[in-house]
Amino acid sequence: MSALAGRCACGAVTVRAEGLSDRLSACWCEPCRRWSGLVGMGIEVAEAGFAAEGPVQVWESSAIGRRAFCGVCGSALGFWPLTGAAVVEPCPGLFENAGGAVLHHENFVEKRPPAIRFDPEPDQLSAADYAARAPVVETAEPVPDPLAGGCACGAVRFRLDAAGEDCGACHCATCRAWTGGIFVGVTTRGAALHVEQGEEHLLRWQSSDRVERVSCGLCGGKLWYRVTAPEGDRVGGEAGDVDICLGALDDMTGRPLRREIFIEAKPAGYAFAAETERLTGAEAKAR
Ligand SMILES: [Zn+2]
Ligand SMILES: [Zn+2]
Ligand SMILES: [Zn+2]
Repeated sequence: MSALAGRCACGAVTVRAEGLSDRLSACWCEPCRRWSGLVGMGIEVAEAGFAAEGPVQVWESSAIGRRAFCGVCGSALGFWPLTGAAVVEPCPGLFENAGGAVLHHENFVEKRPPAIRFDPEPDQLSAADYAARAPVVETAEPVPDPLAGGCACGAVRFRLDAAGEDCGACHCATCRAWTGGIFVGVTTRGAALHVEQGEEHLLRWQSSDRVERVSCGLCGGKLWYRVTAPEGDRVGGEAGDVDICLGALDDMTGRPLRREIFIEAKPAGYAFAAETERLTGAEAKAR
């Protein structure tokens, strides 16, 4: 068996996986969706067959697991269970074409925003189904506020004056590696975003000369993508625009998925069911 190599978005963390499963899982539970910015995605591999090198940061997300992220760019690396299972779950975003894995099941489906569905639909597991297989740590239900959000550990909280009524996905390699899965954002103007708590914990990574990506430096929770390009430069979004990760919002519902960009870079193992406007990276940049 040959080892598959992978890396975080900035390249500081490199991983090797031997015997990676061909099954991809997605989890909509509260910590997973806030941590990844949409839905927690993982591919199982025996602990002995996995190695990560570089500035790996770990967040003890619960009594049963830790989540690892890159300390430089914030990229989601994976879920390291503490249950003695001897299995780790690296994120598909680390690997080209998601390591060839195919979406097999969704956990906590009752928490999935109705507007975001996969096609074909993978096996559907509820929180109760999941609890039958592994201990579940209950987290407090947030009070749904369509304009408030925060990271997975709760250190960072923000509020928006206004935000777009729909959302869009980007399948580019950087977005995949950064979120560990799929980047889905809700656009707002930079001036409409107010960090109400935890400004000092923001982990900012300049992913290109025109874009900054922001995570929580304590938990790795994905927060937003900000266009830092000068006024008038529209490549990668309007100057000053911020795309808030849908999973960072307290209320993920009510915003249909309208666009998918870098569609040519989408891994073969999953697809959204929504009828979206699908653009290649070149088409999106030409807008
Ligand atoms: Zn990195
Ligand atoms: Zn946090
Ligand atoms: Zn992207």
